[in-house]
This record gives sequence, C-alpha cells and structure tokens, in this order.
Amino acid sequence: MDGVVCTNCHTWLAIDLETCPSCGTGIVLDGETKNVIDRLQPNCLIHRYAGSDLLEPAVFIKEGKVNAKVATKLKEYAKPLTVPKNEIYTFSQDTLSSIQALRNERTATIMRYDQLIESHWKSLKPYKI
Ligand SMILES: [Zn+2]
Repeated sequence: MDGVVCTNCHTWLAIDLETCPSCGTGIVLDGETKNVIDRLQPNCLIHRYAGSDLLEPAVFIKEGKVNAKVATKLKEYAKPLTVPKNEIYTFSQDTLSSIQALRNERTATIMRYDQLIESHWKSLKPYKI
C-alpha cells in the first residue's frame, strides 16, 4: 500500500502524513475513527468503452445530470472518471465473474483458431510459373 484516500475530501495521501494537506483533517489509519479509504469497495459496474463488452468494478462518487463520477482504483478518487449514467450498473460479483470468465475463454479460443489457421498458412507453397 503506497497511499490512502482521505474520506473527507478524497485527496490522495502518503501513509506517513498526520494531517490531510487538503482539508486539514487529522489522519487516522486504523480503528473505529479511521478516516481513510485504503481499499476499493466497488458498488457499481461501468461500461466505458463503446463497442467493448468489458465491465469494470468501480465506486460511485458523484452524480451529475447526464454523467457520473466514478473511481476504478484508489488514486481515481482524487481524479474520478466521467461515465454516462446509463453506462453504470448495479454491482454484481456473479455477473462480473461470469462475463470475465467468458471473455477469457473467448480470448483463448481466438488465439487457438489463429494458431490453427497459421499452421495451414505455413503449408502453402509459392506458385511456380
Ligand atoms: Zn482531506
């Protein structure tokens, strides 16, 4: 862990800081009064690449009119991604895992077909006039 996020203002902090340089809050790294985020706990799934079926786990940060701000990693709390609201879904680990497994299978299958096709290409002989 190279840093944490201030719960109050979402500033990225080195873990040796005693107060948040941005909002002045005293930093508590652990215990009941802990006021940092040190682990991404996704509560939504985002689809940010048109034409792709990649879903990414993210934390919903702020709602706008058409878009919303989300973070897919801790450092993005300070600089969130902007994603259209209609591309944000309720978090579902089962659906995410299933899609991910199928995507991996598809990649492996495509690679296998590419190799099979290539092996036939290797048997081609130059045309002799
Ligand atoms: Zn702060």
